[in-house]
Amino acid sequence: MMTRRAACSCGQLHLEIEGEPSRVSMCHCLECQRRTGAVISNQARFHREQITFAGQATAWSRKAESGNALTFYFCPTCGSTVYWESKGFPGYVAVAIGNFADPKFPAPTIAVWEESRHPWVALPPDTPANRVAKQG
Ligand SMILES: [Zn+2]
Ligand SMILES: [Zn+2]
Repeated sequence: MMTRRAACSCGQLHLEIEGEPSRVSMCHCLECQRRTGAVISNQARFHREQITFAGQATAWSRKAESGNALTFYFCPTCGSTVYWESKGFPGYVAVAIGNFADPKFPAPTIAVWEESRHPWVALPPDTPANRVAKQG
């Protein structure tokens, strides 16, 4: 089985993940833009049991558009948000794709919050945009 490692910038907060993600997505929402500092957020969703957590994380929660609480976990040293959980998807953990530092990681197959996409961010032509099933 494939084992992957996701880590923050300084490396102290890191995850070891077995097996494949159940969903890989990109999000154009303004909250993700503020969180990442980038104009797009990319994440892979895994079952919690696939993940071994290591290192210290600070948790920060906000309410998603859906009303569900989203809790983000970031490194208290370097500030990198490595993973998050949503009350709307119990048992699942979303991991930021960039934290794998692996250009061969599977590409997103779904895009959400198209309405706040920066127009210069071009999606692969076969990416379905989903305006209804928003993150959270
Ligand atoms: Zn760190
Ligand atoms: Zn978002």
